[in-house]
Amino acid sequence: MSRFAAVRLSHFLPSLALLGGAVATASLPGLNEFFTSLFNVLPTLLLLLGGLFCLVYGRQRELFLLVVLYLGYFILDTHADHYRESGRVRDDTALVFHLCSLLLPLLYGLYAAWQERTHLVQDLIARAAVLLAVGAVAVGLAQRYPDALLHWVSVVRWPALHGVWMSLVQLAYPLFALAFLLLLVQYLRAPRPLHAAQLLGLLGVLWVLPQVFTQVHALHVMCSMVMLMLVAAVAHEAYQMAFRDELTGLPGRRALNERLQRLGRNYVIAMADVDHFKKFNDTHGHDVGDQVLRLVASRLRKIGGGGKAYRYGGEEFTMVFPGKTIEECLPHLEVVRQAVESYQLQLRDKQQRPQNDKQGRQRRGQSGAAQVSVTISIGVAERDHERSSTEQVIKAADQALYSAKSAGRNCVRSHGQKRGAVKLAGQR
Ligand code: GH3
Ligand code: MG
Ligand code: MG
Repeated sequence: MSRFAAVRLSHFLPSLALLGGAVATASLPGLNEFFTSLFNVLPTLLLLLGGLFCLVYGRQRELFLLVVLYLGYFILDTHADHYRESGRVRDDTALVFHLCSLLLPLLYGLYAAWQERTHLVQDLIARAAVLLAVGAVAVGLAQRYPDALLHWVSVVRWPALHGVWMSLVQLAYPLFALAFLLLLVQYLRAPRPLHAAQLLGLLGVLWVLPQVFTQVHALHVMCSMVMLMLVAAVAHEAYQMAFRDELTGLPGRRALNERLQRLGRNYVIAMADVDHFKKFNDTHGHDVGDQVLRLVASRLRKIGGGGKAYRYGGEEFTMVFPGKTIEECLPHLEVVRQAVESYQLQLRDKQQRPQNDKQGRQRRGQSGAAQVSVTISIGVAERDHERSSTEQVIKAADQALYSAKSAGRNCVRSHGQKRGAVKLAGQR
């Protein structure tokens, strides 16, 4: 599967909503007392709670992104407060602001792209050392040569490229562009919610810098939202790790167990199992086997009748239908069984092709393309007075699956159905 196929709008949606909300809120002329107080404490709260959360989950990258954002927020807010209280900026405000607009994209890009090492303490020390070194050099230069440094950062280096819309020093734009490119490549190489949040977070920082002195709440609101984006993305990934099956993208066993605990009085459970999958793996290889599991999962995901599919484990899947009877579910199960049966998987990659011509010829259809297909067997049972617990219903569905296998596979069987009794349409 190509990496681009894994790019999802859903990776961006939570961060986009927060970014949009931040821009809208920050652009309001005023906020009421409650929100003003909230946004005054939110960055600090997010640094402490979010930072602790990241540390517990071993997400040093996000921890340092939070620290960098908070430092930028704290420094700029101190200067903005002084400006609002006294009506004029401090002597060093221009230099501090320009340095922040260079160091923020630099450090944000660096920490966001810097992959975590397994050794937590070493990683934390390395990241802290970089932050201290960069900070010390910046503070040292700013104190020693304030005028020369101000001139160096604010000089227009490329007059032809200078636009009137540029409200930051010219050098800040290539740094933001570089960081953006780096994070975009990182997202495309590994599309995940966290990489999407880092990318949008950088845009939030770029948006807020020119507003620091002109819009009262912009800095508080945007910093809070970017920090929240990062913490939310860590939480999103932690949830996915615990509840999603990585290979198929379906909810996994843990999610199933959780769902089973809050089913009502009436429900149906179906167990599906790929037929002769061991042989399939032996013939075509484990990689093609994995591809087939993804394919089966994609069909099961579309199950109708209010059902939801889970990967139970290996090549077994569970479908849960809350508030339904077996009769209501059977047609939907039959539809997915047929959908799996009729799908022809094209073998593309070289290493997944047959090892010799004879094997290849056997596998190739009339078209000459190497195609493979699989079938599934399904056993289904419902809750009734004899089986009142989910364990009992699963056991009954398993027994029904066993009879589907004995009946020749590629069919749907309900618990209690007599051998060879009902034959559904399309069943062999
Ligand atoms: P039956 O029709 O009776 O179900 O036969 P079967 O060969 O499918 O049954 P069995 O349970 O013996 O084999 C299951 C096989 O599924 C064994 C294992 O190699 C394969 N399998 C389990 N999990 C995975 C996986 O994640 N990827 C791949 N490629 N194969 C898997
Ligand atoms: Mg099995
Ligand atoms: Mg099987």
